[in-house]
Amino acid sequence: MQEEIFCVGGRKVVPLQSDYTIYNIATMERRVRVRFAPSPTGPLHIGGVRTALYNYLFAKKHGGDFILRIEDTDRTRFVEGAEDYIIESFKWLGLSFDEGQGIGGDFGPYKQSERKPIYKQYALELVDKGWAYYAFDTPEELEAKRKQAEAEKKTFQYDCTTREGLRNSLSLSKQETERLLSSGEPYVIRFRFPKDELIEFDDLIRGHVKMNSSLLDDKVLYKSDGMPTYHLANIVDDHLMQISHVIRGEEWLPSCPLHVMLYRAFGWEATMPEFAHLPLLLKPEGSGKLSKRDGDRLGFPVFPLQWKDPKTGEISSGYRESGYLPQAVVNMLALLGWNSGTEQEIFTLEELVSKFSIERISKHGARFDLEKAKWFNHQYLQAADNHTLAEEFLCDLKQRGIESNIDYVERVVGLIKERCSFAKELWDNGDYFFVAPKDYAEKALKKRWKEGTGERLTAIVACLEEIEDSKEWAEQAEEFLMNYIKENELNMGQIMNSIRLSIVGDTRGCGMVDVFAVLGKQEALRRIKVAIEKINL
Ligand code: GLU
Repeated sequence: MQEEIFCVGGRKVVPLQSDYTIYNIATMERRVRVRFAPSPTGPLHIGGVRTALYNYLFAKKHGGDFILRIEDTDRTRFVEGAEDYIIESFKWLGLSFDEGQGIGGDFGPYKQSERKPIYKQYALELVDKGWAYYAFDTPEELEAKRKQAEAEKKTFQYDCTTREGLRNSLSLSKQETERLLSSGEPYVIRFRFPKDELIEFDDLIRGHVKMNSSLLDDKVLYKSDGMPTYHLANIVDDHLMQISHVIRGEEWLPSCPLHVMLYRAFGWEATMPEFAHLPLLLKPEGSGKLSKRDGDRLGFPVFPLQWKDPKTGEISSGYRESGYLPQAVVNMLALLGWNSGTEQEIFTLEELVSKFSIERISKHGARFDLEKAKWFNHQYLQAADNHTLAEEFLCDLKQRGIESNIDYVERVVGLIKERCSFAKELWDNGDYFFVAPKDYAEKALKKRWKEGTGERLTAIVACLEEIEDSKEWAEQAEEFLMNYIKENELNMGQIMNSIRLSIVGDTRGCGMVDVFAVLGKQEALRRIKVAIEKINL
């Protein structure tokens, strides 16, 4: 037998075995199978991406399967293009599914709308077993009940205390129920929560959870449009797809007692998955769920890719389009709610897989930190291959109408990338390697170009001309300048800054010797001469 990984609620989780059975009732061992189950109601929030990532890491850590299931039973919230967006997002992030929508597998279809015929029989099974019932109340009737309760300063709930007074197969006679059903009266199927029962389960993050069944409302399982609700479809599919662990956002914790009861009602308790409800991703200020509005307000994306709303045409920014590297996004999200227990912050995906454990997921919400997100990108940009960055920069230059060559651009990239957190900042930090200054920053000019500067530089240029144009020119030029400044008892900053101003047009930029080396003798001296001429007018 394989090494036992952990044991919660009496179930053991074992790594992949070549001749595995997904669930072995005798030994209570099961293969790890997790799913990410988004609803295609719009772009994927990064909180959702983090949920998927934790599922991925957990599956890979235990040699299990990571599955993509599209939960599109709520047709009123369906948004065109959202499914493709989800698939493209994970491709970009480099998180691949083993099974699921767009990939295939033995447990398909993986889109709930394509599984529609499956669900009704399960809803009816619960009615037959007495765990569910038909409810014929119209939306108007329910609204009236709500209003009436409100007037009495109460909240209406369809539950064990109210169901007797409503129009359903528990309150109506058998004949009346049959008459309504055969006459085509619209109905929903509701779960029948037992009265005063303790529902208990162990959450891998939250610990032991208890809930009294009388507090819960009889949730709709099957809708009048012939579609299951999220709750029914989710449980039926998790069961049929043999999901071992449900790792999802905390917002689903209140639904979990119903889910646990559904497993009981179906008689699937022995194979019920383990649950792990992840803490929220919080606003940078620390309280409340991170929303798209926070992103708009503070200028950062909350979606992996740019999204164009098909109805309004509104565009929301994405991490990809904002210049983030997918590895940086993955690394950042991994640490928003999980820690390795060490000081290490930079992890490859493989390292995350090997270090990940549900035990180290925090119970508390994780605050989104934009500066940290940029920091991660900076780190990954430094580690990125200069040649690849140079190719990207070359395209950017082309778009700006600048022709250059890859070797030159690669040298520039090598020099300036430490100043950049994003590839798109290469231009702002390295423009002067491609275009000579057209004018000179006024403030800098005032500070750096004094009476006599032009004359001084003319003398310096004359000496620099004398140095042979070779590979060592830049270093020799620097050496000469140092000596010259010392011998003439000049202010080093003043001289070097006026040279910088001539070459860059401003006070910014890399070390002068590096700039000399990349630009070369001819261009460097030409720029100084032009500056003397223009400024000294
Ligand atoms: N479709 C649900 C969602 O959009 C899935 C919740 C779950 O994982 O059970 O978040």
